[in-house]
Amino acid sequence: MITGKTKLLGVIGYPVEHSLSPLMHNAAIQAINNQQDQQSLIDYVYLPFPIKPEDLNTAIAGFSAIGVHGFNITIPHKQAIIPLLSEVSDIAQVVGAVNTVYRTNKGWVGTNTDVAGFLAPLQTYNWNWHQKVAVILGNGGASRAVVAGCAQLSFAEIHVVGRSEDKLTAFQQSWVNSPLPVNLKIHKWDELSSLIAQADLLVNTTPIGMYPNIQESPVDEAIFDNLSPGAIVYDLIYIPNPTKFIRQAQVRGAIAIDGLEMLVQQGATALELWLQQSVPVDVMRDSLCEHLGLSK
Ligand code: NAP
Repeated sequence: MITGKTKLLGVIGYPVEHSLSPLMHNAAIQAINNQQDQQSLIDYVYLPFPIKPEDLNTAIAGFSAIGVHGFNITIPHKQAIIPLLSEVSDIAQVVGAVNTVYRTNKGWVGTNTDVAGFLAPLQTYNWNWHQKVAVILGNGGASRAVVAGCAQLSFAEIHVVGRSEDKLTAFQQSWVNSPLPVNLKIHKWDELSSLIAQADLLVNTTPIGMYPNIQESPVDEAIFDNLSPGAIVYDLIYIPNPTKFIRQAQVRGAIAIDGLEMLVQQGATALELWLQQSVPVDVMRDSLCEHLGLSK
């Protein structure tokens, strides 16, 4: 129910119409209200805002003017938003990207909940992470959140695999003065065959295998055979569910984690920041599963 006091939340991006965030955030807001008495209802709505790159400054000034409460940021604004904020959290500075903005007396504060979202499913395993080796496929934006997450868990070694020597070198360089200590090594894809055998955690941060290219995987079958059976295989992709990469892991006895839980958990962390209360993560997950036709 929209009232005269309804506060605005939302997601900015371009394009943004495929975003699943409105679905899961509005489901959570409704579920909170279903459990509460009339006096303590929360009055928020979460909307998608398609904002072209050239309109970002005007849009954010408009958000200030109309009193938007908080918002998520997706491609292509995750870096471009930074100069428009009064403050950027330590973790967002480490990652170099902001996916969540909230309002304080000082103005807009940006943070990054992708790291917490990535870590949430891993933290259900009680492993000695400081003895473990992570192999991360891809060196783009999401890879940065994954590296930061692995560094927070104090992984012994973090290996990043990419296809461009220049981008890999720049990626490695960007972590040299990071406040988070990172033992980061970079590799081209032809090294994956030997590297994969050492992996306790193998993460796909490339879009290879994402809908509609569902027959693709970043790792060939023969190379996948080198994976140790107890490893965790984590795909950031959530459509399709499961991806070919996840199915390859499952048939080899690995622990498989898909991208849906990261999506849910980054959203839940953002909503908790905005509402300053705990939020129904199960409702958020169920709303996405129902929408995607997945069994809960
Ligand atoms: P990005 O910044 O464009 O990075 C993509 C990376 O994949 C780059 O390193 C790129 O290499 C590499 N890559 C792309 N196509 C490749 C190919 N054919 N062969 C080898 N490498 C290839 O994208 P992103 O924002 O990091 O997102 C990556 C994926 O993560 C997307 O599928 C996205 O949906 C997913 N994601 C999921 C969540 C979640 O909550 N589950 C959150 C964020 C992202 P170059 O740099 O050489 O081009």
